[in-house]
Amino acid sequence: MALPGANLPTVTVTPPCPCCGGPGNDARPISNARPQLFRSACTFTVSRCRGCGALFTSPRLSDEGLRAWYDALQALPQTTETLQRADSKSVSPLVRFLRCSERATPVARWMRGGPVLDLGCGQEQLLSEVASQGFEAEGVEWDAAAVVIARGRGEQADLRTFEPSPARYQHIVLSNVLEHLPDPAGQLQRIAPGLGAVGTVLVAVPNAASALRFVFGRHWVGWDVPFHLTHFTPASMRAMASLAGLCAARTRTPGTAEEIRTSLNNALATDRRMLARRVAFFPIARALGALRLRSALVAELEPTPPSGAEDEGRL
Ligand SMILES: [Zn+2]
Repeated sequence: MALPGANLPTVTVTPPCPCCGGPGNDARPISNARPQLFRSACTFTVSRCRGCGALFTSPRLSDEGLRAWYDALQALPQTTETLQRADSKSVSPLVRFLRCSERATPVARWMRGGPVLDLGCGQEQLLSEVASQGFEAEGVEWDAAAVVIARGRGEQADLRTFEPSPARYQHIVLSNVLEHLPDPAGQLQRIAPGLGAVGTVLVAVPNAASALRFVFGRHWVGWDVPFHLTHFTPASMRAMASLAGLCAARTRTPGTAEEIRTSLNNALATDRRMLARRVAFFPIARALGALRLRSALVAELEPTPPSGAEDEGRL
């Protein structure tokens, strides 16, 4: 089936490093990646900052170009692939994390109360999970289509300008959001004052340190260019959190076999010469999945305690 994308704009800019602000034109290319739903259009480059090691898409689309690509994404027919994509988003890494952690630690205890703010709440699956625990929950979404679909307490706002009320929230959630923003560290800085005294920012992003990234290379599902502008590892997450006065209290790497299946589909659809190798590799990929070498990264960010302070508030 022919995929759209041939006429989408491809004007690019070279951004500075999203972590240290170092010059983007000095970054070292590490991988090419193709758009997963617009394969006929072009390829993009993932580069590594020579100063701090952060990974980011560079060059990336201009802001105007990105808007056109997001518009095209919204206009895609509901092909099997887009339905798979929707399924993937409806069960985000964070929701999977909540469900997985329920066996070891009751979600209610883990969340430690509310209110909860979900930035980029989409169709509010996470808010439903939180509300089912009896906590107050609010959502902010910048995708107009998602707002129309959303129910309950969703509010429409632009994440780039939204600033939460000071010291209001127990948890602020950014699930599958930070990787889409041109300035993720700045976003963390803007929302950090919204945390209460013992608040937590919960972040879920693709994990670029996953073994699956190295197995699948440019076909790895987590690149998701041109929409993903920053590609996080646990180390770069900690570095960006520190810029906002936050520290990564805990990190986890949840996931399912879905990341393996989608990456494999990407490889087969765009590189048929590798078919035999990929089929032969599949049992190994399943084994990697069983070993929990996952493609998602969930981090719990907390305000950095003053130097020398005792850490007495954690579970
Ligand atoms: Zn850097």
